[in-house]
Amino acid sequence: MNLKPYRDLKNYLKERYGEVVHRVPLDAGFSCPNRTDGHSGCIYCDPTGSGFTVDSSLDLKEQLESRMGTLRRKGVRKFMAYFQANSNTFAPVERLEAIYRQVIVEDVVVLDISTRPDLVAEEVLDLLDEFKKEIDVILELGLQSINPNTLSILNRGHTLAQFIDAVSRAKRHGLEVVAHVIANLPWDSREDVAEAARTLSVLGVNGVKIHSLYVVERTKLAEMLEEGTVELTTAEEFVERVIIFLEHLDRDVVIHRLVADPPLKGTVTGNWGLSKLKLLNMIEKKMIIEGRYQGSKALKTQNGK
Ligand code: SF4
Repeated sequence: MNLKPYRDLKNYLKERYGEVVHRVPLDAGFSCPNRTDGHSGCIYCDPTGSGFTVDSSLDLKEQLESRMGTLRRKGVRKFMAYFQANSNTFAPVERLEAIYRQVIVEDVVVLDISTRPDLVAEEVLDLLDEFKKEIDVILELGLQSINPNTLSILNRGHTLAQFIDAVSRAKRHGLEVVAHVIANLPWDSREDVAEAARTLSVLGVNGVKIHSLYVVERTKLAEMLEEGTVELTTAEEFVERVIIFLEHLDRDVVIHRLVADPPLKGTVTGNWGLSKLKLLNMIEKKMIIEGRYQGSKALKTQNGK
């Protein structure tokens, strides 16, 4: 029974696979089109590609086996191979196929691929369709904000329409989609956060990952902070916005993450010096005390759902 005021991933995976399933983050050596060919990247993107901490000098199989070995000793028996670092569809499909195939090994039950919404051409979706015959496939797409002005300030290099297009086409291919959002972007309002949840719900995304905005050294955002051209929100505002997001999100959507750890090295400021557990507790406690839960303010769509 799920006692949390939202649909959490751990319980969902246990229901679906009958036991705990652990994500194994991988770095396949991809880069990102938003940081190559003269593009300067998202203003918060750290040089390792979104806070990646795995030893990328190991090849894919070594990364997978080393982490699976550690987790097996703790009793975990099923795994998600998670292509996390940078943009994991940024290569010709033949190369993508060869890379993804390397991680389809015993006990890996999910192929989980994180990428940008402007990097999912039909041939990539066709490839994932093929993999779906052998293994469950999740496609993770970064949105971060529903507000086009914020997307522009973040230098995301894609539009809201491109995200909607990518999700719609992935859903037509029957893929599971997980969307990434940052709940406390200083340029977004609380209404933007609610609208993001409504939009993801009507698009039929299967899961979401939320995190706070943290500032990493040698990024444009770090410069802006130093110059005083950006003011970060408080922890309390982050907590409130996460709850607003959850209230407006369809209750079937699985919450893959509510709070992330900032990168271990080079973080200027992240999570207000609070642990992930502390922030999670703040969110859950406030929801329970105030009687707020996932989907309580979700849009009633015209198809009656
Ligand atoms: S899309 Fe991801 S990897 Fe690329 S610049 Fe933005 S945060 Fe960095």
